[in-house]
Amino acid sequence: MSIIVQKFGGTSVATAQKILAAARRAVATKRAGHQVVMVVSARGHKTDELVDLAAEITDAPPPREMDMLLSTGEQESVALVAMAIQTLGEKAVSLTGGQIGILTDTSYTKARIRNISTDRMRRCLDDGAIVVAAGFQGVDDDLNITTLGRGGSDTTATALAAVLRAAECEIYTDVEGVFTTDPRLVKDARKVPRIAYDEMLEMASLGAGVMHSRSIEFAKKFSVPLRVRPAYSDGTGTLIAPEGEEDQRVVSGLALAKNEARVSLSGIPDRPGTMAIVFSKMGARKIPIDMVVQNVAEGGTAEVSFTVPQSDLAETLTAAEEAVKELGAGVVDSGTAVSKLSAVGVGMRSHSGVAAHMFQSLADSGVNIQMITTSEIKISTLISRDQCEDALKVVHAAFKLDRPTNEPPTVGVRQKAGNGDAPSQGRLLHEVVSKLAAMEDIVVSEVLLDESQARITISDIPDEPGISATIFSAIAEGDVMVDMIIQNQSHSGRARVSFTVDRTDLERCLLLVREVVSQWPSAQLTYDGDIATLSVVGIGLRTHTGVGERMFKALSEASINIQLINTSEMRMSAVIARPEGHKAHAALLKAFGLK
Ligand code: ADP
Ligand code: ASP
Ligand code: MG
Repeated sequence: MSIIVQKFGGTSVATAQKILAAARRAVATKRAGHQVVMVVSARGHKTDELVDLAAEITDAPPPREMDMLLSTGEQESVALVAMAIQTLGEKAVSLTGGQIGILTDTSYTKARIRNISTDRMRRCLDDGAIVVAAGFQGVDDDLNITTLGRGGSDTTATALAAVLRAAECEIYTDVEGVFTTDPRLVKDARKVPRIAYDEMLEMASLGAGVMHSRSIEFAKKFSVPLRVRPAYSDGTGTLIAPEGEEDQRVVSGLALAKNEARVSLSGIPDRPGTMAIVFSKMGARKIPIDMVVQNVAEGGTAEVSFTVPQSDLAETLTAAEEAVKELGAGVVDSGTAVSKLSAVGVGMRSHSGVAAHMFQSLADSGVNIQMITTSEIKISTLISRDQCEDALKVVHAAFKLDRPTNEPPTVGVRQKAGNGDAPSQGRLLHEVVSKLAAMEDIVVSEVLLDESQARITISDIPDEPGISATIFSAIAEGDVMVDMIIQNQSHSGRARVSFTVDRTDLERCLLLVREVVSQWPSAQLTYDGDIATLSVVGIGLRTHTGVGERMFKALSEASINIQLINTSEMRMSAVIARPEGHKAHAALLKAFGLK
């Protein structure tokens, strides 16, 4: 008999009526011939209320007690849901995370799942009962209650679906499915019928609140078919699944992370090992850093900037000060009131001009881009927070995301060469996953060496709206495909942008760039045809803070200097000097235990 996992979010079990409706849905599924496991969140705003209550007692609640407290919200829900099912005439058993045997590590408030035993759930299912599991919680080796991080019930659901080999995992929530962007912020956002795992993983980790990003890691790792559906109607929702032919759009969706902060370390030594120290200090505190921009060094010192959620800023600054101390030089500064606006889509792998189109639409509405980073399927920009919601609407319209799908793309089409991607990953992934010691362990399936690219850097350009748009529009019009883009402001108020192109396009691209740059007398153009890009490929790489640490430590031990860095959930890349490519490749294969 096939197993269906059904997860109900807080809004969907907020009242007795909604609890009964959720119960009826599970009962109907059971009567249609399936075994049913429900995963339930705390009712309505229960978790927020408990957080507020703790804050009234202390500014620094001990994490262990916080987990003890927050886990009660889910315990209340499962009991009520099980009662509801029983009144409808079916058997039901409510179980806490500990009763199921969801074993986690001891990182209170952000615990990771190690193992789940299926015995008790299977016994209940075979006995004809619907299992009602508490989301968001587990226990550590000493039976201390742990929680998985806010929004973590999604992760409980996909993890249970994975270990039970469920036919489908259904996520019932308060919207019709996954939209092109948050429908609360953009009224004409549209529901997408299907989205690829990689796209959803990026969207979720870049701020789309609809799914916990770790739940998508589970879904991809263990091939769980996942569907986000409305709890209040019979809508078919959105299927989250492997990449398919039907994914027509170049950009599938936009994510906004409103409350971000920027942290910069300047005047730090430009030598191998610098990034390793920075990443290890952040990794030690489990701070996921994003939008890492390391400027090509000037006068023997380097500068690195990155973003973190504003709630992690205080800890990040402490960690950055530690890094500067260990490096022996440098100054830390930060910027708040910024937001990260990202565009995501697997179509970016094969289309040129996507970035230029996004930058142009921001320029047209007077939005200055403070930082840019891109990866193979996403473009992230850091902009001022007071403009972020308007910017989201503008970019949404610019990519025609408010129109029905399957319209032709708004940007040029050209196959990008030499960027070997997703398809070959399936088998490798399966091999790595089958050897995992713990379910949420880091998954790194490959280390790739790409020697086909060249780097161009333009420094001392004005820091004002429209500059990036001008540069990248000119390049796109010249039909040159840009790969990695990295931009930030320097302390002198000038901006610097670096990007990579195929080496065979270098001369042509330089001609295009020289012409544009000539309008800014202060601007300086440099390039390097002799670079190599190393990419560590896997799942959840940015959110598992240990990956950057391991990668940069290995490069540092091999005495390799890093020119540019680029991170996404699927890939972490570093640009280095080409003659060191093979040595670096070997060092990384060894560091990640790959052949
Ligand atoms: P639940 O309590 O069911 O887990 P959440 O509040 O965690 O629900 O997630 C649903 C909410 O996510 C929606 O109400 C919506 O405002 C928000 N959201 C953000 N981005 C998106 C998106 N791209 N698609 C759909 N919903 C989104
Ligand atoms: N109740 C938890 C929270 O509000 C978990 C969840 O809803 O997914 O974060
Ligand atoms: Mg949620």
